[in-house]
Amino acid sequence: MPSIEAVPAFQDNYIWLARAVSERRCLIVDPGDAAPVVEHLERTGLSPAAILVTHHHADHTGGIEPLKRRYRVPVFGPAGEPIPCRDHPVQEGDEVEAAGLRLRVLEVPGHTLGHVAYASESVIFTGDTLFTAGCGRLFEGDPEQMLQSLEKIAALPDTTWVYCAHEYTLDNLRFAQVVEPDNPAIRARIARENARRLRGEPTVPAPLTLERDTNPFLRTHVPAVREAAEAHAGRPLTSEAEIFAVLRAWKDELDA
Ligand code: ZN
Ligand code: FE
Repeated sequence: MPSIEAVPAFQDNYIWLARAVSERRCLIVDPGDAAPVVEHLERTGLSPAAILVTHHHADHTGGIEPLKRRYRVPVFGPAGEPIPCRDHPVQEGDEVEAAGLRLRVLEVPGHTLGHVAYASESVIFTGDTLFTAGCGRLFEGDPEQMLQSLEKIAALPDTTWVYCAHEYTLDNLRFAQVVEPDNPAIRARIARENARRLRGEPTVPAPLTLERDTNPFLRTHVPAVREAAEAHAGRPLTSEAEIFAVLRAWKDELDA
């Protein structure tokens, strides 16, 4: 397992610092802000090896320029999006090696069209695609694309831990419970994650297996989820993409 530390930023972002346990240099994933990263590096004595970016939104890229100026590290980011200071455009199947880690690039369009994730044997940095107990909004892509991206992530090994870029778990679980009020795994997870937040701890990362059991957006194949989506839409739904589209729009309505 890599060593991974959370740097909280803004209201609810996490910037992840990842390295092999034997390393003192780390990857910086999605630095939306530079100041908390610099503070964390100076306090811990870590130094940066590279910056990895999942997509172009400012809360994931705003810190790149100042960090690049200060540390002169290479910046990896999706080939299909405008990423400041990007040295290495990455696409599906590329590998990034730094800080003693090797990460594979997965293209996961939906939240944005060029969004990528970075996966090792045991962890995946999902940006705003798969959230713990939820998924990102469809700003650029369509439901079909996002569902395929989520399925690609869900197909990773059971031992994978999900590191997403926001602390949204409790809000997402409230929606999960609206969709599946009788799912005991969701109820148990709410109690556990609530306790974590009360202790001031992050609820990220989460095991991929728990996501498969409690995240409605990974459960469009489950009869209870289909029935809830059909009841909400008031019509029969014939594909998982349609079910996914109804779930995503339903959550957007509740968030609005
Ligand atoms: Zn975003
Ligand atoms: Fe974001």
